[in-house]
Amino acid sequence: MENESIKSFEEVTQFHGHVCPGSAIGYRAAEAGMKELSQERAPDEEIVAMVENDSCAVDAIQVLTGCTLGKGNLIFLDHGKQAYTFIPRKDGEGVRVSIKSSFDVSNLEPKLNPLRMKVSQGTASIQEKEELQTLMSSVTRKILEMPLDEIFIVERIDVQLPPRAKIYPSVQCAECGDMVSEHRCRVKDGNMVCIPCFEKD
Ligand SMILES: [Zn+2]
Ligand SMILES: [Zn+2]
Repeated sequence: MENESIKSFEEVTQFHGHVCPGSAIGYRAAEAGMKELSQERAPDEEIVAMVENDSCAVDAIQVLTGCTLGKGNLIFLDHGKQAYTFIPRKDGEGVRVSIKSSFDVSNLEPKLNPLRMKVSQGTASIQEKEELQTLMSSVTRKILEMPLDEIFIVERIDVQLPPRAKIYPSVQCAECGDMVSEHRCRVKDGNMVCIPCFEKD
């Protein structure tokens, strides 16, 4: 990696727990986004990452950007898209990195998906399971080595950043007794309850 401030893929694997194409895609997406942002900004400036899925890729985004759910600078949008937006906290112009429709792991390794299917259905032999591991690492390596513009569309966009996480008072759920943040309470028969209790029966 030319830029030494970018963490290694090994660090991602350590955090994520296994080597997979998904975390490699997240790694390259963060790399693409940070490169684009670093053209005009200090590397230590706080950024916010908006992720549009909750797949393996997001773990790589967290490691490379330092953005986490707990810090409130990782925003999850449940859109089911392989798209990641990186926004400097102080302004609203960000970089959105999304996967090209022409990118397909099946082109990198045609046998991967059928074999994955077989393994997940429990019909694969031990040999096939081993073969899947080999294919997974070969696809992962290919993704890590591909030119970024063969994988992603990188574009500048204006984003409306949500306000920083507020601290809300807690109230006690009238049914289960758990303390719950006020802005997540529902009213049931005139009492404040938590979401699971509200949705029960
Ligand atoms: Zn994974
Ligand atoms: Zn409750």
